[in-house]
Amino acid sequence: MDDKLMLMIPGPTLVPETALLAMAQHPIGHRSGDFSKIMAEVIENLKWLHQTKNDVLILASSGTGAMEAGIINFLSPGDRILCGCNGKFGDRWAEVATAYGLQVEKITAEWGQALDTEKFRQHLEADQDKQIKAVIFTHSETSTGVLNDLETINGYVKAHGQALIIVDAVTSLGAVSIPVDELGLDIVASGSQKGYMIPPGLAFVAVGAKAWSAYEIAKLPRYYLDLGKYRKDAAKNTTPFTPPVNLFFALQATLRIMQGEGLENIFARHDRLKTATRTAIKALGLPLLGPDTVASPAVTAVAPPPEVEAEKLRAIMKKRFDIALAGGQDHLKGKIFRIGHLGFVCERDILSTIAALEVALIDLGYESFTPGAGLAAASRVLVKS
Ligand SMILES: *Cc1c(COP(=O)(O)O)cnc(C)c1O
Repeated sequence: MDDKLMLMIPGPTLVPETALLAMAQHPIGHRSGDFSKIMAEVIENLKWLHQTKNDVLILASSGTGAMEAGIINFLSPGDRILCGCNGKFGDRWAEVATAYGLQVEKITAEWGQALDTEKFRQHLEADQDKQIKAVIFTHSETSTGVLNDLETINGYVKAHGQALIIVDAVTSLGAVSIPVDELGLDIVASGSQKGYMIPPGLAFVAVGAKAWSAYEIAKLPRYYLDLGKYRKDAAKNTTPFTPPVNLFFALQATLRIMQGEGLENIFARHDRLKTATRTAIKALGLPLLGPDTVASPAVTAVAPPPEVEAEKLRAIMKKRFDIALAGGQDHLKGKIFRIGHLGFVCERDILSTIAALEVALIDLGYESFTPGAGLAAASRVLVKS
């Protein structure tokens, strides 16, 4: 049906009508007092969301731009870094770092498993002469639905004392608590089309004091993504280059919505939706890609049995129910499908998705479950919590 699309993918995510309408206005000048007022409010609320008093800078780019900025502003050619790779995005940071001539040591885990924190400890403890300049990894690995153990890895980085911690929080920020100041995270990157509930186009980088010291001596080339420029201008409630001002209207709206809901409620909602989704999938007899203990609150990856073709299932979900699910990436293409439950997603959306999924599975001839079993399982989780 036209105009009925339900985006149950881990980005771009659903956008509230308030934000859509906020964008349907004439752009305003980005050097105007009106824009500065919006910028001031947005910066304040971004700090609230990041649980930080330090800088949160806003870039006109996708999430990858924020991560690239997180790398090039604080490191120098030849610097040794540890990079956690257990999915598409971890691999990407190794690629970016390699492209800029860094010496990348990968800590890998199978796709669908969490990074082994012990490997970080061993590498960092062995580095007696402090050659490791940064530890980079993805908090919520969107390609597999796995949440890596940020606190433990951060603890080892802090014990090392020298290395910066650079975190891709693109699908964890706004879904799970990331107390940036309390943990002392140096660089945290995120993007607008995920937990922020607005369309793609803005990216965010939180930068702590230690990272700014590294910025002073970092030698990689930078211009458009030179965070010093953004910091200087943010102090005057403006931006160094023309920002997508209409996205700022939307961001102002969704940050207000988030403030209204409250951080704890937002995190609890994501946790509840994750549990309801996973419980329903199990009740349908479909295998999940990763274990519950490391499940991302943003996305659930399902590895269906051979008789269920993931791509056919997605096609039915889209065509018949206007529900978009995500497929697998790289070697998992065709092997898994992913249900996003990030951002502007409520219990009703999960119940609709599970109910539609049951019909689609039966359509495909998969009958290893009693019709209604998934919905009943999800409902029980939602009633309890
Ligand atoms: C979406 C996403 C990104 C950013 O991707 P872009 O396409 O550049 O916005 C980075 N990391 C993770 C984990 C993501 O989910």
